[in-house]
Amino acid sequence: MPTYEKNVIDAAKNMARQSLTVSTWGNISVRDPKTGRIYPTPSGMNYQKCVEDDIVVFNAQGKRVKGKRKPSIEKDLHLHILQRNPWVNAIIHTHALHSSILAAAHQSLPAITEEFAQTLGQAAPCSEYAIPGTPLLGENVSKVLEAGHRAAILPNHGALVAGEDIKIAFRSCFALEKGAEIYIRIKSMGLEPKVISPDDVDHMHRFFRNSYGQ
Ligand SMILES: [Zn+2]
Repeated sequence: MPTYEKNVIDAAKNMARQSLTVSTWGNISVRDPKTGRIYPTPSGMNYQKCVEDDIVVFNAQGKRVKGKRKPSIEKDLHLHILQRNPWVNAIIHTHALHSSILAAAHQSLPAITEEFAQTLGQAAPCSEYAIPGTPLLGENVSKVLEAGHRAAILPNHGALVAGEDIKIAFRSCFALEKGAEIYIRIKSMGLEPKVISPDDVDHMHRFFRNSYGQ
């Protein structure tokens, strides 16, 4: 059984490999639902070189219980969301290109692809602006999730995707970035993206959620 430290390192390596982020920008956290412990990625490290001792562990109250490194600059963003949204056990925050383009335009992303509808539902709304690393960023992004969404565009910054586990969060993350790219390409052709009807989105989203992993 891999440890949660290994899970978060593998996820960070995967994020970097999949071009979901550049350099050490972007960060991930996972929560052990049994203990409530939270495992964010460390700050400013090359994720390819991370080992389990580099991971700082926090308890459910946000108190450090293990590890000497500096955790991600966005640790408070992760802790705030995990504490306010009990269904979330994994968070991926990326600076992926197409999500970041929408972020620079303060643009929400509606469900225009089936993968998006399945994994994320109706939309990834753009949150209110907050400076990176501040408690306000956590509050603003958490508000989007507390309103029933699973992802948010962070204005002038990037994107954040939440999931019940890291696999679901990754699938959702790819659906978000691909949806953002398609949205931008359609707009740049001078066309208007066609949003899937809310009823059809609900149907696909429910089906995906109920059949995932079987
Ligand atoms: Zn960031």
